[in-house]
Amino acid sequence: MSELTVIVPCKNEEEAIPLFYDELIRCTAFLSARNVELKVLFIDDGSTDGTVAAVRSLHDRDARVHLISFSRNFGKEAAMYAGLKAAESDYTVIMDADLQDPPSLLEEMFSYIDQGYDSVATRRVTRKGEPPVRSFFARRFYKLMKKLSDTEIMDGARDYRLMTRQFVDAVLAMTEYNRFTKGIFGWVGFDTKWIDFENVDRSAGKTKWSFWGLVKYSLEGITAFSTKPLVISSLMGIFFCFVAFVMVIFIIVRKLIFGDPVDGWASLATIIVFVGGVQFFCTGILGQYIAKAYLEVKDRPLYLKNDKNCF
Ligand code: UDP
Ligand code: MG
Repeated sequence: MSELTVIVPCKNEEEAIPLFYDELIRCTAFLSARNVELKVLFIDDGSTDGTVAAVRSLHDRDARVHLISFSRNFGKEAAMYAGLKAAESDYTVIMDADLQDPPSLLEEMFSYIDQGYDSVATRRVTRKGEPPVRSFFARRFYKLMKKLSDTEIMDGARDYRLMTRQFVDAVLAMTEYNRFTKGIFGWVGFDTKWIDFENVDRSAGKTKWSFWGLVKYSLEGITAFSTKPLVISSLMGIFFCFVAFVMVIFIIVRKLIFGDPVDGWASLATIIVFVGGVQFFCTGILGQYIAKAYLEVKDRPLYLKNDKNCF
């Protein structure tokens, strides 16, 4: 008998959890024919609503349901890590609680594991139902990421992924503090099968992501999986040195021909402000990486469990 752990990060999902559970049970009936036991591991990421109570009532009915509860909100990345760490199963899958990662795909995903894949990943091919501005910037982000990073990060990729033990162990071996799981999944390699699906609307409750939250998350992704911005700022430095050199020659020549070196202070002032701006920009990029390194060096735990709500 092998085991499948379903990891479900939850932040304020009291309404979505019962719907999720029913759908999951309905869609995992095929597991018994394969001799796979199910374990559902909810991760309560500092919820302030009745999430813990909702999971507890499921646990009372079904002993396969478990909960890890955090002492506060640590973010979905930390929740996924905690789940992967706790899962000791042969197969592990991460799913959102809002049914935007359709459990009905699981059977198909398993068929690819049979074919020898180490992970079966999903991506949405449409962003129907999402605010257009958000889709626009999301698309730009993936385009930019493709240019900046050597690690493959698919457009529309979800965290919904079925993984073998070998794959999970590889992901767990990456213990970095600034986690960007979409990048980590790409970085570890192995044979991955991609499944496309149409975007599904949230079953209940509200999205936890604000627009700025996503902007911050994407910057995190860039700094975690690319050092090219540092290269770009160095190149900018070289470029401006070159421009300055050309201008010096120009001024010397003009002085020799026309004899007035003071003319043009307005353009000079503009140039000083502009180059000052570029310098701040580059220092800012550098600062981002130093800040990340600082957080890594501190080696703080990724999450803290609240034991009285774990079962
Ligand atoms: N989530 C979490 N911690 C957070 C934010 C979100 O565990 O700080 C969970 C959330 O409960 C959900 C999943 O991550 O199960 C995806 O969040 P959401 O549906 O709000 O994101 P969206 O689908 O809108 O991108
Ligand atoms: Mg969602």
